[in-house]
Amino acid sequence: MPEFAGEQIYRNATYSALRTWQERKGRLRLMGSRCKDCGQLWFPRRGEGVCGRCNSRNLEDYECSHSGKILYHWCNAFFFTPTGYGAWGMTRRVPALIELDDGVHVFSEIVEAEPKDIQDGMRVEMVIRKHRRETNGNWFYAFKFVLTK
Ligand SMILES: [Zn+2]
Repeated sequence: MPEFAGEQIYRNATYSALRTWQERKGRLRLMGSRCKDCGQLWFPRRGEGVCGRCNSRNLEDYECSHSGKILYHWCNAFFFTPTGYGAWGMTRRVPALIELDDGVHVFSEIVEAEPKDIQDGMRVEMVIRKHRRETNGNWFYAFKFVLTK
């Protein structure tokens, strides 16, 4: 990457400050929903307040497990970062499908590990990491996963 390019400032897609605020617990604590009637877990949170399995409106907040294992992963090597994501040079990412210990499946990213050291089935735990710049210049923090030692 050329030195003069520097860091991308922010993504130019639509951005809802209200939505970002409302979803902060899901982003920072893996807060989802649990149906009190049928026990079904949901992540992200069921914002409409209706269970998609039994149509009950009897939902409660549920903090999903912060650890789990990798079901499937791959390595993306972009020449350019996806718009708004990361700095120049930080183009290699390892997205992964993760099964948490309570059975919830989360699509996220494995960080702080070399792609060659990552294998399906490895144990991971949630961490809070920078995702991107938002339109106001603030860093946007959300969950990612690291390999458990
Ligand atoms: Zn239900």
